[in-house]
Amino acid sequence: MGKKIDENRYARLSENLDKAEARLEAEAQEHVRRGREKSNVARKGIDDIESSEADVEFGLAAIKRYDCWQIQEARQRLADGTYGFCRDCGDEISGRRLEERPFATRCFDCGEAHDEQERIQQRIAARHRSRSRHSYH
Ligand SMILES: [Zn+2]
Repeated sequence: MGKKIDENRYARLSENLDKAEARLEAEAQEHVRRGREKSNVARKGIDDIESSEADVEFGLAAIKRYDCWQIQEARQRLADGTYGFCRDCGDEISGRRLEERPFATRCFDCGEAHDEQERIQQRIAARHRSRSRHSYH
């Protein structure tokens, strides 16, 4: 972690985080909006499928919100000077990777296995959430 992030990179990464957060927030709101729409239709008893589609939308919104929270954490790391470096091997994480995954804490190589693990866990969590919400039917 001895390396200091240079000012240009800092500004670029900071801007990148702002953009990503705005995008994720907008996406989360869009999922909530769609979810509400679908659950309104479901409440009118028009279509039962709409109700599970609403759950999917709310699940997606929750994932986006979680990502937003990770961005806020990343901003904290940026202030601390640890952002942009791999937590496993200490290498600088490429700007391109950070654009795609602004809250990446690992370089591409170290991140691959870890990301896959996270995706699986998120999928399981989403499935679990939608299942428990269905139990009142
Ligand atoms: Zn690494």
